Amino acid sequence: MEHMTLEREARVFPALADDSLGARALLAHGAAYPGLGMSAASARRRPLPPTERLRNAIEREELSVHYQPQYETRGGRHCGVEALARWFPPDCESIAPTVFVQAAEKNGLIDALGAWVLRKACATVATWNRNIEQLPILCVNVSPRQISPAFCTVLASTLERTGFPAERLELEITEGILIEKPDLALECISQWKRLGVRIALDDFGTGYSSLSYLSRLPVDRIKIDKTLVHRMSNDLKTAAIVRTVISLGADLGVDVLAEGVESEAQLTMLNGMGCRQVQGFLLALPARADEAKSMLASRWGRRISLVGSTHAS
Ligand code: C2E
Ligand code: MG
Ligand code: MG
Repeated sequence: MEHMTLEREARVFPALADDSLGARALLAHGAAYPGLGMSAASARRRPLPPTERLRNAIEREELSVHYQPQYETRGGRHCGVEALARWFPPDCESIAPTVFVQAAEKNGLIDALGAWVLRKACATVATWNRNIEQLPILCVNVSPRQISPAFCTVLASTLERTGFPAERLELEITEGILIEKPDLALECISQWKRLGVRIALDDFGTGYSSLSYLSRLPVDRIKIDKTLVHRMSNDLKTAAIVRTVISLGADLGVDVLAEGVESEAQLTMLNGMGCRQVQGFLLALPARADEAKSMLASRWGRRISLVGSTHAS
């Protein structure tokens, strides 16, 4: 799986390479990317510069949003669904979000991309149930580069236009937000909270993970990064860190979710550590809206409740 991801990213990367990348470097990638080859025919079909391609993709709705359900380990009910941006260009392989989100952060398109994902996800999930109480918590990633008063305006107008209830929306931020512009970030996040949305600290354990962020930020949920979940089975120190974060969350009254759960062994271990919320390929892959909606209610929920009841601590 890891290998496949790396290979795909390597093949598509030239499509988003920096506009200033030299011709030699582009040609070096040419064999792997349709449109960057050396033949006369392919030269005539030279692709648009990367910034233009991404801008067009956003404007022409070439992007889509997939949704990955999250589950409670006790009882197996869903406890949310994460919106994940996808790009399937008509003329080449799909482009990984880690690649195009980073490109958008560099070329100034992240505001447009972020606003589009937020609007699309809220509008879609709002239709999943007439009863607000029955709607899942919808988690949307927010890049540190989106932090601005303008995003607060986008957030308020999206909630109003889509009718999505603020208390069911969770914005996922990373601690990078506080490192880049701490004062602005705290001011903006307080405004989001005033609108009623929830805040999650994503990828916890990968950056500086300063505990002071947890006291400064009005966080509702901590998401333990998948690299910790993958390492904890073979590494006692990582397991101790995961256990500590889970117990810290309990002491702070903050939900803790473990990301990247791929095996029964990981699920059993997390459950034994007292982790009550999980997300990962074992339970549900990111999927199109209609599939994700039915997954929230059906088989994966039942599957996890069986595992949970066998190993509940
Ligand atoms: P993230 O927010 O931490 O999202 C979770 C990532 O882990 C997703 O990758 C998901 O497909 C993947 N994942 C879920 N379960 C498993 C598992 O069991 N094993 C493994 N190995 N991976 C798992 P994806 O969709 O490729 O997204 C990667 C990152 O791109 C996201 O990480 C997020 O940082 C960013 N991203 C995606 N969509 C958006 C967006 O709309 N806006 C922003 N700003 N960033 C986004
Ligand atoms: Mg996330
Ligand atoms: Mg994450």
